[in-house]
Amino acid sequence: MPQLLAVVNQKGGVGKTTTTVNLAAYLATFGKKILLVDIDPQSNASVGLGVDRTQISRCLYDVLIDGVPAQEVIIKSSIANLDVLPSTPRLAGAEVELISLEPRETRLKLALAPVQDNYEIILFDCPPSLSLLTVNALTSADEVIIPIQCEYYALEGISQLTHTLELVRESLNPQLKIRGIVLTMYDPRTLLSAQVAEEARKYFGAKVFNSIIPRNVRLAEAPSFGQPIIFYDPGSKGAQAYENLCREVLDDGNS
Ligand code: ATP
Ligand code: MG
Repeated sequence: MPQLLAVVNQKGGVGKTTTTVNLAAYLATFGKKILLVDIDPQSNASVGLGVDRTQISRCLYDVLIDGVPAQEVIIKSSIANLDVLPSTPRLAGAEVELISLEPRETRLKLALAPVQDNYEIILFDCPPSLSLLTVNALTSADEVIIPIQCEYYALEGISQLTHTLELVRESLNPQLKIRGIVLTMYDPRTLLSAQVAEEARKYFGAKVFNSIIPRNVRLAEAPSFGQPIIFYDPGSKGAQAYENLCREVLDDGNS
């Protein structure tokens, strides 16, 4: 049975995609068979892994809305062991179309069922909303990873997110757990970063991963080369932090 992990936070720009892409790349490089499912119409994760959007004819939209088998849409990335179920901006249409399709919250789960045993870990990169696309990810997932940006208003919206997790547990996915909180874009020179880290630890306790992701320009540059940090600049501070996070995720899961 694979582990299904959704990287989620409805707040925009907190490091969801950077975390998903780099975790996926490290996990794959450590020999795990990985599927990254890009659930965001912005398709940043697909692009960050070097997928050429102009070359994709079909994406998650076709799987969710038209019932195209996931197997026919999944592509290999340039990294061994790492496959991608890509998104394109067309996926934005699914947000609306899902509303009138039954079952609307479990379509992703049903679509992944035939392929999921090909993988050890499946990662979902969620959009910055608590829309039906995100609910589909939460319904499919075993656990969530929540990135929190070490900036002003970092914890704003967290209670809404935890409430959504509760609702999903009550109605659709009772087993859903929080795997961990990742502090991102940490700047050790600022008091603010330290304060956010402290607040997050107060709120989430031991759920906060020990690995903290620093603000690191190499992490921000890597996507424009279609490369995860492990290939773009493996010696950078950002790379070391994501490698450590990856080890922590593997340890927690005993896999
Ligand atoms: P969205 O909500 O739009 O999907 P997101 O939560 O996926 O955003 P990212 O796209 O991962 O967030 O990051 C937002 C921006 O910050 C990007 O330009 C990214 O390259 C940059 N970034 C992410 N993490 C870091 C970091 N640790 N250091 C520096 N820049 C970062
Ligand atoms: Mg994103």
